Amino acid sequence: MTNLMPAAFIGHGSPMNALEHNRYTDSWSTFAATMPTPSAVLVVSAHWYVNITAVTAMKVPRTIHDFYGFPTELFAVQYPAPGDPELAQRIVDVVEPTYVGLDEDSWGIDHGAWSVLVHMFPQANVPVLQLSINAQLPFDYHFNLGVKLHELRSQGVFILASGNVVHNLRLIDWRQPGQGTDWAHRFDDGVRAIMTSDPSQLASSEGLSDYTLAVPTPDHFLPLAYLAGLSAAASAPTRTLVDGYEMGSLSMTAYELPGT
Ligand code: ZN
Repeated sequence: MTNLMPAAFIGHGSPMNALEHNRYTDSWSTFAATMPTPSAVLVVSAHWYVNITAVTAMKVPRTIHDFYGFPTELFAVQYPAPGDPELAQRIVDVVEPTYVGLDEDSWGIDHGAWSVLVHMFPQANVPVLQLSINAQLPFDYHFNLGVKLHELRSQGVFILASGNVVHNLRLIDWRQPGQGTDWAHRFDDGVRAIMTSDPSQLASSEGLSDYTLAVPTPDHFLPLAYLAGLSAAASAPTRTLVDGYEMGSLSMTAYELPGT
């Protein structure tokens, strides 16, 4: 039987997690330390949410500081991992007939990716590619693309989805560090019940009563659709890697799909 690399969804939270060491970032680094070294990392980040499906195909992806209002120190972070243009082409082939464009020069490695990768692979010596999230297409498209990416797991590729299950920046309450509102707990618990039993049913979370509060825009939730697709393709549920809440309206829950 072919060995499968693990896959994961990480709740990345604030970009400041790149610089901090806390129980979330500790769980990310411990998780990475216990897996075989991947041949490459394919990141599906909430922060590359555009009107096309594309994969980065440059040899040297740049580090993108796609935020504002944070300390200078954060803008100084570089994540100099190489790209892997050949793998980019293989991804295009693997998901056919779904169209994925090769991005030679537009994107790179955004903070949804590097704020996690600096903890998982601090040496930046594993090639990193990103797959954009096509904002024009519905949940099922993303889930099905996740199913198609399954094959990459047997080729040593670690697939890292990076977002947040509950992500409502308009309702952030700075007086609630480490806490979540009642609706945030309810939604996160509802999603967890699905992800830890039958992730193929994740689309039904759109019917949960707190969905519009927890997911005011789909960008941070949709990365989870990719892990759900991978999970369905492997006929294996995911496990909770770490959980928690920040500022009332963010959940930091992370899920792992174990390797074999
Ligand atoms: Zn984010």
